[in-house]
Amino acid sequence: MSVALWIIATLLVLGGLLYYRSSLLVTSLGMVAMFAIGSFFDIVGPVLWVLLALVLLPLNITFIRRGYISKSLLGMYRKVMPEISETEKDAIDAGTTWWEGELFRGAPEWKNLHSIQKAELTREEQEFLDGPVEEVCKMLDDWEATHELADMPEEVWQYLKDNKFFAMIIKKEYGGLEFSAYAQSRVLQKLAGVSTILASTVGVPNSLGPGELLQHYGTKEQKDYYLPRLATGEEVPCFALTSPEAGSDAGSIPDTGVVCKGEWEGKEVVGIRLNFNKRYITLAPVATVLGLAFKLYDPDHLISDKESLGITAALIPRDTKGVEIGRRHFPLNVPFQNGPIRGEDVFVPLDFIIGGKEMAGKGWRMLVECLSVGRAITLPSNSAGGVKSIALATGAYAYIRRQFKLPVGKMEGVQEAMARIGGNAYLMDAVTSFSTKGIDLGEKPSVISAIAKYHMTEKLRSCMDDAMDIHGGKGICLGPNNYLGRGYQGVPVAITVEGANILTRSLMIYGQGAIRCHPFVLEEMLASAESGSEALNRFDKAIFGHIGFAMSNFVRSLALGLGGYRFSDAPFKDSTKQYYQQMNRFSANLALLSDVAMGVLGGSLKRKQRISARLGDMLSYLYIGSATLKRFADEGRQHEDLPLLHWAMQDTLYKLQEAQLELLDNFGFVGKTMRAIMYPFGRFVKRPSDRLDSKVAKILLKPNASRERLGAGQFLAVEGQFGYLEQTLLDIIEAEPLHDRVQRAANERMPFIFLDKVAAKGKELGVLSDDEVALLERAEQGRLRVINVDDFAHEDLMAGKAAREWALENQGKSQTKKSDAA
Ligand SMILES: Cc1cc2nc3c(=O)[nH]c(=O)nc-3n(C[C@H](O)[C@H](O)[C@H](O)COP(=O)(O)OP(=O)(O)OC[C@H]3O[C@@H](n4cnc5c(N)ncnc54)[C@H](O)[C@@H]3O)c2cc1C
Repeated sequence: MSVALWIIATLLVLGGLLYYRSSLLVTSLGMVAMFAIGSFFDIVGPVLWVLLALVLLPLNITFIRRGYISKSLLGMYRKVMPEISETEKDAIDAGTTWWEGELFRGAPEWKNLHSIQKAELTREEQEFLDGPVEEVCKMLDDWEATHELADMPEEVWQYLKDNKFFAMIIKKEYGGLEFSAYAQSRVLQKLAGVSTILASTVGVPNSLGPGELLQHYGTKEQKDYYLPRLATGEEVPCFALTSPEAGSDAGSIPDTGVVCKGEWEGKEVVGIRLNFNKRYITLAPVATVLGLAFKLYDPDHLISDKESLGITAALIPRDTKGVEIGRRHFPLNVPFQNGPIRGEDVFVPLDFIIGGKEMAGKGWRMLVECLSVGRAITLPSNSAGGVKSIALATGAYAYIRRQFKLPVGKMEGVQEAMARIGGNAYLMDAVTSFSTKGIDLGEKPSVISAIAKYHMTEKLRSCMDDAMDIHGGKGICLGPNNYLGRGYQGVPVAITVEGANILTRSLMIYGQGAIRCHPFVLEEMLASAESGSEALNRFDKAIFGHIGFAMSNFVRSLALGLGGYRFSDAPFKDSTKQYYQQMNRFSANLALLSDVAMGVLGGSLKRKQRISARLGDMLSYLYIGSATLKRFADEGRQHEDLPLLHWAMQDTLYKLQEAQLELLDNFGFVGKTMRAIMYPFGRFVKRPSDRLDSKVAKILLKPNASRERLGAGQFLAVEGQFGYLEQTLLDIIEAEPLHDRVQRAANERMPFIFLDKVAAKGKELGVLSDDEVALLERAEQGRLRVINVDDFAHEDLMAGKAAREWALENQGKSQTKKSDAA
């Protein structure tokens, strides 16, 4: 054997052992074996054996490794790692990791993904969707609610309460519905397709708020009193954390509670004197019970040795003396109930603290734990539902609306925007189903919830923009006949609440992801925060695991980048195989880049938000891609859905690649070196082609099985805007051959408008039956309703003081004017 051959063989063996993540001992034995072979062929002499021993012995003899190497590494680690604040620690500790952990660790086991059960509804949940949810969708007139009433009508509120819409998360023993997270998601999707007010009003009490907090942390008395009343809607809750001075930085609220003695129901008791000023609080104007977050102080040590106890959550009845509530904010013309709450010297007994005195100071932990669940349900589901409905509506509209004698949806430029809506609708439903399934399996997925919240609301924003562009003026002119405008206006609300999106992307996704999903970092941090020999033992195990992990990811990134990804593991051999293999490569890259970023930047990675954001993007797109592949498998690998699946995967993986390249381009010399390792042959993922865009657009344009699956579960009764559009689409498609028949019989070209006149002509020529005439007339009526927009008398658009003055001046006349307008 030649020296060169032995060197190559040794490197390959070392690479193979690292690629497959062999232990330190096995890797060391592998090297000893290769050196023995080298000795046999007279290639390795005593000097090389000594060098090998100098490397391997200290690493494999525990007391040397721990006592010298790990000890000095621990010293260095403690110097570079910043201290974690209590609020950060709570955020990191809250929640669990699930499939995203597998993606982060560089070598996803795809069989684990596909062995997760498919999300499904129980019969009771399905009946609720088909019964009360369908009914309330029919009841609510969104224009009336948003423009005329600035609220939902009383009968809708009552219907929601009577049917326990606010009690989806409350356990049955307290009179609630106790639905799965998946079922809640389906309910919210359907409501969001009809009205943002409806979806927000139902979403909030079922998300982070008194109901959720009480169930997890409430005392028995609190649960027994409040939960049945919340279940029936007798109590309407809100949760007040945000203050004018503390929005994103919610841990810095200046609102205070001071433990002191005071009078409550005629007796002197130990309680809390509260002073607070909150804003943006959803449901506050109509709430009967306020969940309140404040900082608790105990200067006289009445309940604790500490003076400052930290953030605490309490339940305050609305009518408590000193509470000022009832005024409203006006969030972007989507006037769900939202407003400020103030309180001056409000005295309440200690047992108003959620969980009682024992939970004093534990409010922040309670909030982040509950948020890690709620954030994965409400806003992602509202966004997915909105996009599913607008995917159907935009497809129908783009078929019905014709310009230049063609349905606008057949024009390539429009198809580009339609493809984004269709592909994202497929993917968004996949992400919400998969994430809520995780919750139903008992996870509290804090990283996934941040991913889902950020990406689903951003996709909602981009799809809304596309839908508005395709609808042209029809989307812009508000009125009862506009089914897009209010949703479009409301998008920034979803972007801002439950963690404003810039912060969520820049800090939370990767900030929590890196620490929670990395197999060793959290353990290193915890060990470094302790002292004594046990801390050293823990650190030693973690740091050497970490070094092996990083070396393995380096080898994997190199091998997969050189083309090896095409031979990597994929659970299916069909056209989806490429996506699993590309994700194997990206996953290894993410794991390596994470270690490189943490190694090079240390604690300052936290401040390098654009690096952290792009690492978070990589993790997010891996998660979104997995959820999409899972949906395709769970739905029985429907061949007709392949354009949707391909579009969603190609768009996602292309975005992943671009995020990675942007990161490398902004990471100096290290980035350039990593680029050479990870992209030896340049970009390897292409964005969806024009042909694929066109295939997706065609799915949206006319009824078919894929389109039906895309809009599954949305409100499509003909009484609603979207149902009417669907009916009109069917009528127009049926009208087309009749229109052709009349053209042929009359021997003249007729534009596809005035279908009622075409019907009359067909009747006159005797080529249409009565039913066919009626169909053409109905199609024309529908077509006009679909393309027309509303107009108003000037005074109908006036509001506030001007409207009141106008009404006074025109008493008597106003009735005539309004009926003229009608
Ligand atoms: C309609 C509506 C309903 C709401 N409902 C409730 C409710 O029921 N209860 C409640 O307690 N609160 C509620 N909120 C408050 C909501 O959670 C806050 O608006 C949100 O936390 C953002 O705070 P802010 O608006 O003050 O923005 P700011 O905190 O002032 O942020 C401004 C911008 O800076 C960015 N930013 C801030 N810090 C960072 C950082 N460290 N890194 C990067 N970017 C950063 C943000 O992403 C944002 O883009 C509601 C808000 C609205 C508008």
